Amino acid sequence: MLIKVLGSAAGGGLPQINCNCRNCADARAGVPGLAPRTQSSVAVSGDGKSWVLLNASPDLRQQIAATPQLAPDPALGLRSSPIRAVVLTNGDLDHIAGLVSLREGLSLNLYASREVHAALDANGIFNALDRTLVPRVVLAGEEPIELRQGDVGLGLTLEAFPVPGKVALYLEDPAAGPAFGTRAGDTLGLKITDRTNGGAFYFIPGCAAVDDRLAARLRGAELVLFDGTLYTDDEMIAQELSAKTGKRMGHISMSGPEGSMAAFDKLDVRRRIFTHINNSNPALREGSPERRAVEAAGWEVACDGMEIGL
Ligand SMILES: [Zn+2]
Repeated sequence: MLIKVLGSAAGGGLPQINCNCRNCADARAGVPGLAPRTQSSVAVSGDGKSWVLLNASPDLRQQIAATPQLAPDPALGLRSSPIRAVVLTNGDLDHIAGLVSLREGLSLNLYASREVHAALDANGIFNALDRTLVPRVVLAGEEPIELRQGDVGLGLTLEAFPVPGKVALYLEDPAAGPAFGTRAGDTLGLKITDRTNGGAFYFIPGCAAVDDRLAARLRGAELVLFDGTLYTDDEMIAQELSAKTGKRMGHISMSGPEGSMAAFDKLDVRRRIFTHINNSNPALREGSPERRAVEAAGWEVACDGMEIGL
């Protein structure tokens, strides 16, 4: 199985179009040690020929253009695509907006929870994906299924399970109390297993907390790509970028007693990689004290184009 990180930034990317925070300004200026990043998405393949996208970011067209494996195979005629399926972890714009870039007559299965499919169904723009070519497959339970294009198996097993999170910003219901109307299927974690060699990894780009259930699931895992949105819960407030904490946005922070580094400390996960990293996060900068702390805790920080074989 080959995993390619297409984009490793949270919503807005690095640099974000309207942001002059230190990270965005330095990334824009080409300062070394702070590589620009597109918005979060991963591609995975069991055979190197058919690929599955985990989330479809607004930068998808650029990400496909930068990834030779996702180019049309000349042996298959004038028009084709190796992208055979898309799996969505939630309804956030930075995870679904790229779907409209897949409208060029591609044939692929679209997997998401009932809640996220309902959000897509409620927005007519996604009818640009012809349902006869792009069947909507509801991830209703946690039992393993084989990912497919139409009826053709792609050699990868998917397990999707709810994780603590928050409903997408544009779907928040302020009248619904502190959870804004969030339901269990609004945020999923994914486990992908290669049906040939049994290699497996978890992809959890959005997660509000590592509860006992999630900790038990991840214990002993070979590889986890995990929500690295913020280093500290209040960093966007401290940098005067936003009034929101990570908790308010449905994202666990890397640091602190309730953070992901502490939560993973005893889970014996062999390889831990932060992705979906917000432009405000000081751990983006190579050599920063925060980056050194992340590395000392056994974590890597994803960059665009990162390849992992399992
Ligand atoms: Zn910024």
